Amino acid sequence: MSEPIRECPSTRREALTPDSGDWWARAACRDAELAVFFSPDDERGHARDRREAQALQICMPCPVLVQCRDHALAVGEPYGVWGGMTEGDRRKRTRRLRGQRRPLESCVRTP
Ligand code: SF4
Repeated sequence: MSEPIRECPSTRREALTPDSGDWWARAACRDAELAVFFSPDDERGHARDRREAQALQICMPCPVLVQCRDHALAVGEPYGVWGGMTEGDRRKRTRRLRGQRRPLESCVRTP
């Protein structure tokens, strides 16, 4: 299993492609505490909810929220808050999209 990414979204420059532009340079989280965006290994429940709420408050007025979100979804970013979406938000979105692409036969019950 790979190590969780512990960098702030706006500093993950190596993950950005030339097509990404320089959106990260205008990121609202550039000077934010890194721990707000990425969970420690033992974080659970309300502690996670509070931390994610803090991160989302930074994201919401961010001028590059859409670019950041698009990037995270495009690369399948598994960890952290990106573009106003938590890890859970991205997982739900992925499951929803997979469900929509499920072939019709998989929805039919067989005796
Ligand atoms: S949307 Fe959030 S995570 Fe993305 S660059 Fe802006 S503040 Fe950082």
